[in-house]
Amino acid sequence: MLKNIKTDILIIGAGPAGLTAGIYGARAGKTTVILEGRSASRLALGYEIENYPGFPSINSLDLLGKFRAQALHFGAKFVAGDAIALGLDSDPKSVTTKNSFIVAGAVIIATGKPFSKERMIPGEDRLTGVGVSTCATCDGPLYRGADVVAYGHSEEALEDLQVLIQMGCRVHWVPGAEGMDRSRAEADDLVRKGVHVHIGAEVREIVGEARVEKVILEKEGVREELAVAGVFIFRKTLTAPFFSRAGISLDHKSCVAVDRAQRTNIPGVFAAGDVTCGGLQIASAVGEGCVAAMQALGYIRKS
Ligand SMILES: Cc1cc2nc3c(=O)[nH]c(=O)nc-3n(C[C@H](O)[C@H](O)[C@H](O)COP(=O)(O)OP(=O)(O)OC[C@H]3O[C@@H](n4cnc5c(N)ncnc54)[C@H](O)[C@@H]3O)c2cc1C
Repeated sequence: MLKNIKTDILIIGAGPAGLTAGIYGARAGKTTVILEGRSASRLALGYEIENYPGFPSINSLDLLGKFRAQALHFGAKFVAGDAIALGLDSDPKSVTTKNSFIVAGAVIIATGKPFSKERMIPGEDRLTGVGVSTCATCDGPLYRGADVVAYGHSEEALEDLQVLIQMGCRVHWVPGAEGMDRSRAEADDLVRKGVHVHIGAEVREIVGEARVEKVILEKEGVREELAVAGVFIFRKTLTAPFFSRAGISLDHKSCVAVDRAQRTNIPGVFAAGDVTCGGLQIASAVGEGCVAAMQALGYIRKS
């Protein structure tokens, strides 16, 4: 049987965006539930952070623990489970998990950019943080002057590829077989900028002992090795169809579309953090979580 829960604000996601929203909601004296899915925050990977203000160097797990403790301190309640159905277009709103049915005055979506482990490239999991990255802005500076692979063909992948060029990396673009049309359209411009374009190739394996040393590419059945120091993997947001089905508008990158007040197209539903593809950084997720919570508080005050 489903457990019924009623709350003023429901936050879906317990990363920096969701936890910040939780701190603001609970501290304002409103009942605040934070739904924590199985995929875990990106901070749970345990990497070293050097660009979060106030902490010249901190492990991401420690920072996550501090955010969480602060939300608990102000009275936010944590519920474990993935949101599997969303009823958002009427008031109050409802969100269903395997074990609970949660009714809320306002909802903040802060689900980050979950990725499927099933689609991971051999070597990707083991070498994440030691050569494998999903964030050009975070890790690009570490590879200035070095050869890196940028893998993916989405709009966002192309933007991050430009970031890598700007940071002085020697970029090999592997758009993947599905990105053939896009890679042909973009190839000339990128080649002029010094990018090596591997049209029609796929990354089959990422190889290295303690850190990335090379990748194995495959094109039309032929495999070749490419020596690189870094591999940037840019995948589309997996949660996009889930939000679309719930009536939430997405932008051209398949991210949840929001205005400057973190409002989605549905009144009383806000989104913050990586799910909006805003800055894809902890600081931006925190800022968006704060704005979303203040807007949610305003929404429930008026309704
Ligand atoms: C290897 C690596 C290094 C990075 N380095 C840096 C860095 O140095 N500096 C920096 O600023 N940023 C860095 N980032 C980026 C940073 O981790 C993210 O920008 C940040 O975690 C985004 O926060 P978020 O709250 O939006 O999402 P996340 O932290 O990803 O949290 C998402 C939350 O949503 C939950 N969730 C997902 N789906 C559901 C669902 N259906 N139902 C319920 N809950 C759900 C998850 O369980 C999780 O709790 C790095 C990322 C990676 C992967």
